[in-house]
Amino acid sequence: MSTMRRAYKTELDLHNEQITAGKKHAGAARWAYNWGLTRKQEAYKAAGKSPSAIDLHRELNALKRTDVPWMSEVSKCAPQEALRNLDAAFAHFFRRYQLKTAGEFKGKLGYPQRKTRKKGLGSFRLTGSIVVFPDAIQLPRLGRLRLKERGYLPASGANVLSATVSEHGGHWYVSVLVEQEQATPEQSGPVVDLGLKRLATLSDGGIEENPHHLKQHLRRLQRLHRAVTRKQKGSRNRQKATRRLGAQYRQVANQRANTLHQLTSRLAKTKSVVVIEDLNVSGMLKSHRLAQAIGEVGWGEFRRQLAYKAAWYGGRIIVADRWFGSSKTCSQCGWGDETLTLADRTFRCQACGLVIDRDLNAAKNLEKLADSSADSQNACGGGSAGGGRRAVVKLPPVKQEPNTLDASA
Ligand SMILES: [Zn+2]
Repeated sequence: MSTMRRAYKTELDLHNEQITAGKKHAGAARWAYNWGLTRKQEAYKAAGKSPSAIDLHRELNALKRTDVPWMSEVSKCAPQEALRNLDAAFAHFFRRYQLKTAGEFKGKLGYPQRKTRKKGLGSFRLTGSIVVFPDAIQLPRLGRLRLKERGYLPASGANVLSATVSEHGGHWYVSVLVEQEQATPEQSGPVVDLGLKRLATLSDGGIEENPHHLKQHLRRLQRLHRAVTRKQKGSRNRQKATRRLGAQYRQVANQRANTLHQLTSRLAKTKSVVVIEDLNVSGMLKSHRLAQAIGEVGWGEFRRQLAYKAAWYGGRIIVADRWFGSSKTCSQCGWGDETLTLADRTFRCQACGLVIDRDLNAAKNLEKLADSSADSQNACGGGSAGGGRRAVVKLPPVKQEPNTLDASA
């Protein structure tokens, strides 16, 4: 049996003393990160080479005795891990830089930025002796911290590698990285297609309605926005109004995240194969109304969660090429409707007379695609034994007609 790494995040229930200790740790991590960034930049300017996290940690230990004695009040892990994060941030930056030079990446390069308190207290990571109880977690220096949700963190059978404590809007969270045994898949059956209108349509007919949390709360958000702009800049009242607005946004975000997590978990646990269409998202973002719909569904996040959860539960994700005309092809006879637009919610077949929900029709086509690709996988003799971390299969572009698919399998 193979092992895998998995993170569990849950909310902490801290008392004042613990909050103070948490703030100190987050502050130390932030300080070390910013200090390390400056040191790296200086050294690079001077010598064309920048010190590693290990070099910086050694240097920081010397500083603790002279310049920053307050840092000995916190676990040595907090600054140490922050310096590691800094190294990772630079590694990501250079990777993106290389991709961009090669023309394979168009986004922002993301040069590491200084951490500022204005964006929140941030987080810190601890390693070493970490003990998980059903209702608490014991961390170095911080001691035993109570958890708001009982029994979520794996208290036994998992090897704890690290714990990251973070703060968002007055709430404190811990994310625990554990190494545990890979679960064996117990799923069977079909396939899901992510649609714009609904969060997801299952090909067996089960339908998930798209949660319009943002729309529901839009009025309230607008009101809170107005409340902020009416208050004088820099005033206490404006600060309070800003905080209320932030809390409302956070609530919406949490609800959306929760719906997505519940859905992706359920799919990953119950389906052996999930096919999603690789729609041209950036192309669609040009259309304003669609952009809002995609933003709300959290398309990329949906795919990301499905991919890693499928890996946990031993399932498989197939990303169908966006030119595969799954929504334009009749799932019953293969007739193609080239005139179908995104606005048409119903597919009407002119050949066999099938009238079917657009998303459901697409899901059924993608299910056929999954069947044929399962065969071709077996033919390669590969299967999951290769142990790729991500169960994503990229299919070659297929234009149309399920018949051609069966022949190629
Ligand atoms: Zn038909």
